[in-house]
This record gives sequence, C-alpha cells and structure tokens, in this order.
Amino acid sequence: VGRGTAPLKARLLDQSVVAGIGNLLADEVLWRAHLDPRRPAGELRTEELDELRRQLRAGIRHAVKHGGVHTGEVIPHRTSGGHCPRCGASMVRATVGGRTTWWCSKEQGAA
Ligand SMILES: [Zn+2]
Repeated sequence: VGRGTAPLKARLLDQSVVAGIGNLLADEVLWRAHLDPRRPAGELRTEELDELRRQLRAGIRHAVKHGGVHTGEVIPHRTSGGHCPRCGASMVRATVGGRTTWWCSKEQGAA
C-alpha cells in the first residue's frame, strides 16, 4: 500500500493492493489508524504502515463480529454535522480516489 503518489484512500480501494476493501471499511480503517486519506501513499513511514495493517485487521475483525462494515465505530458519524466519536471534532467530507470520503478534521487533517 505504501507506494506511489496516489492518495492513501485510493490505494486502499485499489483491488490489486488490498482485495475487496470497500468504501466504508477504508474510511473506518484510516480513522482507526489516525491517517489522512489524502496523503500520498508513498509518504507513509514504516510505523504508519504497520499501524495501518494492524487497524485493517482490527477493522475487519470488528465488521465480521458485529455483522458488517456498517457497524464500524466511525460509520454512523459519516454525515453532515457529524462529530468524531473519539475526539469530538467535526467530520469532514471530500471525494478522494473517486469516492465519498469522511474523516476527522482534527486527528486526520483539516479539510
Ligand atoms: Zn477525532
């Protein structure tokens, strides 16, 4: 995942990189890992990539256990006027990698 200049979110959605990861799961995993979805994937440090892998596994486990990716912790807050369930900052939205993307304005980078 940590290669090239494409935004991180686009890399995660790229089927050749991570098989079958959906839009909701990508937002959940990037939120869990405190990573800005717009960052060029190739800029990530080794520790950040390790954390991303950890949170990807955790996000998948959570989804399987609770019945789907829509049960992710940040998913209900992907809405206009929504706030981050971890720090309370406002959620922001933009199109990243061609998909609607939501993230925490404080922990994952201002819009
Ligand atoms: Zn937050």
